[in-house]
Amino acid sequence: MFELSFGKLVILAAVVALVWFASRGGSRSAPRQPEAPRQRGAAPRVEAEDMIPCPVCGTYVTSKRPAACDRADCPYR
Ligand SMILES: [Zn+2]
Repeated sequence: MFELSFGKLVILAAVVALVWFASRGGSRSAPRQPEAPRQRGAAPRVEAEDMIPCPVCGTYVTSKRPAACDRADCPYR
């Protein structure tokens, strides 16, 4: 049976919180650097579309709106 006492739950929560903060970098003490104004004068960003190969036919298609090929078993139909 479960033997989760309240004390074990508190320890578990503390461990989870510790891992959570450690995974976020743990740089809370460091002051935040202000974001550099990169937008000004920069070239307009081109939204790059990820190209993924069709697992059946191998044709590279855009992941956002894949185009179906002529194969009947193409997953993008
Ligand atoms: Zn295909």
